[in-house]
Amino acid sequence: MIGLRGISKSYGPVTALDGLELDVREGEFFCLLGPSGAGKTTTLKTIAGLERPDSGTVLLDGEDMAGVEPYDRGVAMCFESFALYPHKSAYDNLASPLRSPRHRLPAAEARDRVHAIAELLGIGFLLDRPVGLLSNGQRQRVALGRVLVRPARAFLLDEPLSHLDAKLRQQMRAELKAIGAVQRTTTLYVTHDSVEALALGDRTGVIRDGRIVQTGTREEIWYEPRDTEVARAFGRPRINLLPGTVTEDGGFRSPDGKVELPVRAAAPAGTEVLVGVRPRDLSLTAPGHELTGSVYVTEVLGRSVEVTVRLGGQHVSLVAPRGDTAGLRPDDPVRLTVRPENLLLFEADGPEGPGRRIGKR
Ligand code: ADP
Ligand code: MG
Repeated sequence: MIGLRGISKSYGPVTALDGLELDVREGEFFCLLGPSGAGKTTTLKTIAGLERPDSGTVLLDGEDMAGVEPYDRGVAMCFESFALYPHKSAYDNLASPLRSPRHRLPAAEARDRVHAIAELLGIGFLLDRPVGLLSNGQRQRVALGRVLVRPARAFLLDEPLSHLDAKLRQQMRAELKAIGAVQRTTTLYVTHDSVEALALGDRTGVIRDGRIVQTGTREEIWYEPRDTEVARAFGRPRINLLPGTVTEDGGFRSPDGKVELPVRAAAPAGTEVLVGVRPRDLSLTAPGHELTGSVYVTEVLGRSVEVTVRLGGQHVSLVAPRGDTAGLRPDDPVRLTVRPENLLLFEADGPEGPGRRIGKR
């Protein structure tokens, strides 16, 4: 439905997009995840026609958008910077898309639509106020409402919840996908928050340096990250990545020999690798392959506890239920377990970039 083919865009010496390829399917909620500066906003602006790519093609419903004006593309974009009329009321900001010639609605219908969307976004009580007097979080919801209020071929949402406080963000995240307009409409949602991407995206594309490095469902990205950087981008605390080499029998051994793991690497003995294990996949009690170490530090995270464990010269982090960690003190010996199927294996990171995932035998 949205197709980007080999899109490149530079601003002077800065390459914002570098041969970007992207396909968002009809009706899909697609998250574009990447750090600041990765090219997310430029991608949306290029689709909306607000930036002209140096090369490449933007397709909407298979139609090449070269030379098609933004207004005629039929996509609705919500900007990071809100782009609202500060002196007008929230109501007028929300209603203005419904006054454009193309989407004009009878006044009563427009009013109902504005009120309905404002209620969904929890800003119904603010409609009379000038947008300039609202908080950032309230303004951001007005900006989102302005996008959702009228039908569009696609919604392009640029970090639309980033200015909300944590609690409201979580609540809106849950509600956003339930909004009928969002369910019906192809949505490209930009975020730098991996939790948000995993929660919302039917699929997620990970963008880095103006390119998509991996696209997949949450399961694909979580269990089959393309490289160490994608693995690091998802999950808090971060995935543990331990350096070592592949042994003769396809196992893993750390340089000091203190950590050995049955990874069944599809790589020759001696290959320098990083073995990845997520903190929630290490346990103090479950059956599995055993490792021994000592407690370095513990930190309570609500109902669970993050325990940092020293394994030879390495530190690994694990998250365990509070009950499993009672009485653990720094320097206490500790036994951890991991199920071999939860181990990920990567080439070592190198000057050419993050290490690629290696398959298992
Ligand atoms: P993101 O939204 O992922 O943070 P952007 O798409 O805004 O990233 O920017 C990608 C890169 O392009 C950044 O290095 C940014 O500084 C640069 N850039 C974006 N817009 C402009 C502009 N109008 N002029 C100059 N550089 C820009
Ligand atoms: Mg941006």
